[in-house]
Amino acid sequence: MSLLAGKIGIVFGVANKRSIAWAIAQAWHEAGAMLAFTYQGERLRENVEELASTFGADTLILPCDVTRDEEIERVFAVAGEKFGKLHLLLHSVAFAPRAALEGRFLDTSREAFRVAHDVSAYSLVALSRHAVPWMTEGGSIVAMTYYGAKKVVPHYNVMGVAKAALEASTRYLAYDLGPQKIRVNCISAGPVNTLAARGISGFGEMLKHYEAHAPLKRNVLPDELGATGAFLASDGAAAITGQVLYVDCGYQIMGM
Ligand code: NAP
Repeated sequence: MSLLAGKIGIVFGVANKRSIAWAIAQAWHEAGAMLAFTYQGERLRENVEELASTFGADTLILPCDVTRDEEIERVFAVAGEKFGKLHLLLHSVAFAPRAALEGRFLDTSREAFRVAHDVSAYSLVALSRHAVPWMTEGGSIVAMTYYGAKKVVPHYNVMGVAKAALEASTRYLAYDLGPQKIRVNCISAGPVNTLAARGISGFGEMLKHYEAHAPLKRNVLPDELGATGAFLASDGAAAITGQVLYVDCGYQIMGM
């Protein structure tokens, strides 16, 4: 399959081989895209280098804390210089202080609210703004979201509010960028056992709950998120923008 042959992409959010970003990057790579990767801080550099090098020894890998404008600028300057253009951007990054993902939403501190929104929602706007000048042939921007943006999921708290901001940002970006043939969409994934997910109190229960209540009676697999990511990046999705696509074994349609 070479659905994405000739496409160049940049992936934010690989922490390890369980990361959703890695599942989507693999699918993009298998579909023929050439990819660059970023990582946050030295702690993750080795992991990302090890994974990314399986795509070729010269794969571009750059540090980027998405709360730092100068790091974002550098990533796109270096990637732009290397490739000359860009077609795909994956935003698979989120963070909220652990204390904000336990107990009551009511107790969310100003600082936890700010950090969660900066890392998990504003970063999509900042990354898109820097990517767009290189997307001269059109493009596809994909961000990862969760159902807690729409409905109350106990303990998801401020992250649900940040995901609501991310989904709304997707729509406004889709409107701004449509004339340049740049599409912006979210994948709303059912729960997947990753590093970030383990920070949510009661995550194990969430997996069991989905298995019991989703129409497909199981949890989503990382490969399936990869396949949806490849679809959204491809011309098959050429008329899809500003959407939130649920890849959750149907859980989202249930009333009880
Ligand atoms: P993950 O492997 O832990 O990925 C999260 C990534 O965000 C990590 O690479 C993390 O790096 C990065 N990150 C956090 N703060 C950052 C910052 N300031 N700058 C740059 N990167 C930063 O977990 P994941 O589950 O795959 O999460 C990926 C996306 O999917 C997130 O948006 C998440 O909300 C979303 N999602 C996950 C699920 C799920 O059940 N797993 C469901 C729906 C949506 P560090 O490790 O260094 O913090």
